[in-house]
Amino acid sequence: MTSAGSLAAVHARAPGKINVFLKVGALLDDGYHDVAIAYQAVSLYEDVRVHHADDFSVEVAGTVEVSRVPTNGSNIAIKAARLLARKAGYRAGARISITKRVPVAGGMGGGSADAAATLLACDALWGTDLPREELLGLARELGADVPFALTGGTAIGTGRGDQLSPALAKGNFQWVLVLADFGLSTPAVYAELDRHRDRHAQDIFPADPTPTVDTNVLQAIRAGDPHMLAETLHNDLQAPAIHLQPSLAEILELGEQNGALAGVISGSGPTVAFLAADLDGALELQIALSAARMNVVRATGPVHGARIMQD
Ligand code: ATP
Repeated sequence: MTSAGSLAAVHARAPGKINVFLKVGALLDDGYHDVAIAYQAVSLYEDVRVHHADDFSVEVAGTVEVSRVPTNGSNIAIKAARLLARKAGYRAGARISITKRVPVAGGMGGGSADAAATLLACDALWGTDLPREELLGLARELGADVPFALTGGTAIGTGRGDQLSPALAKGNFQWVLVLADFGLSTPAVYAELDRHRDRHAQDIFPADPTPTVDTNVLQAIRAGDPHMLAETLHNDLQAPAIHLQPSLAEILELGEQNGALAGVISGSGPTVAFLAADLDGALELQIALSAARMNVVRATGPVHGARIMQD
């Protein structure tokens, strides 16, 4: 156990995620939707370092475009640190430095990873040592994807996406990700989905209010079989994301023409995730898409959730 103030700084790392399956339920009276998600944590990491300070501040750098990330109290890392301080009765603050590798507003949960890493790092820095269940409760308050960034691996999320149950997974999947030079706002993509459903006879085929994850997805993940998983990749937010950004359809097409087993928009996009058969297939696809002047990174999954790094 760590006593408050005994560490000068703490470094925590948390992964981005791909939604390999995402079904959106009917619009509920409170304006939200229930979802059924199969999450996979992938090897694109956010590094968060926290130092003791009287107040709260954040600085952001990284390998992705970070100009859209706020550096005031609306940054989710500051919200996470403040929430933990309030809940644990800690009276000082933290200076937070983030190195981002997950594309901003890319549908890969970069902000959620920052929040999860900040919770862990501040908990260690301040010696507040909250039980895991309480940290998960705070994560849930911060956002639907934050609990998964803490747990990592492969998991099924229901409710708002934050009711997690781990899924058995074997082996490693090889992903090639095309990062867009624009972001998509998650609420805007959901609003487009609702408009689309209104236009298309939802009274005849209404969306299931409590959607579930297809059992074939779970089987494919359990078998570690990329061909099987490729058959089951699915995202209800893909059509509305393409409607808002038609260029995404061309990217999906190009990846599939160049050897991807399948492609899917991750979360609310605009990152497009292509599944490759193996490492060689992923490398070839990466070269082909880079030659088409796309911003491409490779990642594997599943990987661990947020954890403290010993520098
Ligand atoms: P999700 O898939 O969880 O909905 P996302 O991956 O599409 O999210 P994020 O990169 O997490 O998107 O951020 C979405 C928005 O949140 C950004 O456009 C930005 O304005 C704001 N934001 C607040 N804090 C952060 C942060 N630490 N990193 C990135 N964006 C942040």
